[in-house]
Amino acid sequence: MNIRNTIIIGSGPAGWTAALYTARANLNPLIFEGTAPNLPGGQLMLTSEIENFPGFPNGIKGPSLMQLFKKQAINFGTEVKSDNVLDLDLSTKPFTVTSETGEMVKARSIILATGTKHKLLNLSGETELLKRGAGVSVCATCDGAFYKNLRVIVVGGGDTAMEEAQFLTRFARSVVLVHRKNKFKASQILIDRIVKNPKITIKFEEEIQKLLIENQKLIGVCLKQNTIMADGLFIAIGHTPNNQLILNQLKLDSDGYVLTCEKSSKTSIDGVFACGDIQDSNYRQAITAAGSGCQAAMDCERFIANL
Ligand code: NDP
Repeated sequence: MNIRNTIIIGSGPAGWTAALYTARANLNPLIFEGTAPNLPGGQLMLTSEIENFPGFPNGIKGPSLMQLFKKQAINFGTEVKSDNVLDLDLSTKPFTVTSETGEMVKARSIILATGTKHKLLNLSGETELLKRGAGVSVCATCDGAFYKNLRVIVVGGGDTAMEEAQFLTRFARSVVLVHRKNKFKASQILIDRIVKNPKITIKFEEEIQKLLIENQKLIGVCLKQNTIMADGLFIAIGHTPNNQLILNQLKLDSDGYVLTCEKSSKTSIDGVFACGDIQDSNYRQAITAAGSGCQAAMDCERFIANL
């Protein structure tokens, strides 16, 4: 079997940057960009305008930015598989990647860029409504326009919840922001905007305990103290790392993020590198993910050169 120099798993800013750098270093990288239900292109595919990625003074749409990342990596020779990785065997070298379509590929090194996914409330009916777009969403940018003149609820107390609530006021008749604590953890500038917005009502120290569903659509939620009728619920309660492929193989922190050696992308297994949100619960920005993809590619290049 042909042994690849490197396989990159995940196609957000980290994965594509790692691909670009390893391609330019003649490592002939193969990237598994994923396919549904995963999100090729990563979280930026769920955003609209990106104003904080340097080089785009007028901003750029998230999906457009990811198209540019992909095109640039391909232009320099990255090979792309639109397939999900089903299994990753790091116990023997070369490492083995098995895809959902049954393809098995061996590689001397792996660059892991699998990112994170949205946390859910784990309520009955939640996943079904989310999948069918029947009143539950994790992305106001994607789904906000469906709630024109309707009543929506946002749950969460971080920056995402503030941004989603604010954004939804463009469409919705009313927005109720539900948070389990008595104060938000979001940045003050975002909180100030929320507090000033007349369309937003805040409910502190509240929890969504039950979804009210009628005709297979959300019609409201039960809180601890009362019931709110609503057409949409936007869940913005953070993320969990996509670490299923490396559980019991790589060292992880207590939240399940990959531990990397200080100032590098090296993981607990020689030849396996991690970049992007899967190893960063702190910054989680497109630019920091892209930067860490570059680091992973350079660490990988040195590793291959030393073999
Ligand atoms: P965070 O982890 O920062 O916040 C999650 C929020 O959801 C917290 O308020 C948390 O409550 C609440 N929460 C968690 N689990 C539950 C649950 N089961 N039920 C109810 N509430 C729950 O996630 P974000 O997505 O908001 O932000 C992630 C990162 O991205 C942050 O670093 C943030 O700064 C960054 N970001 C920056 C933006 C910007 O700068 N414009 C925009 C969006 C995100 P509690 O407070 O009790 O922990």
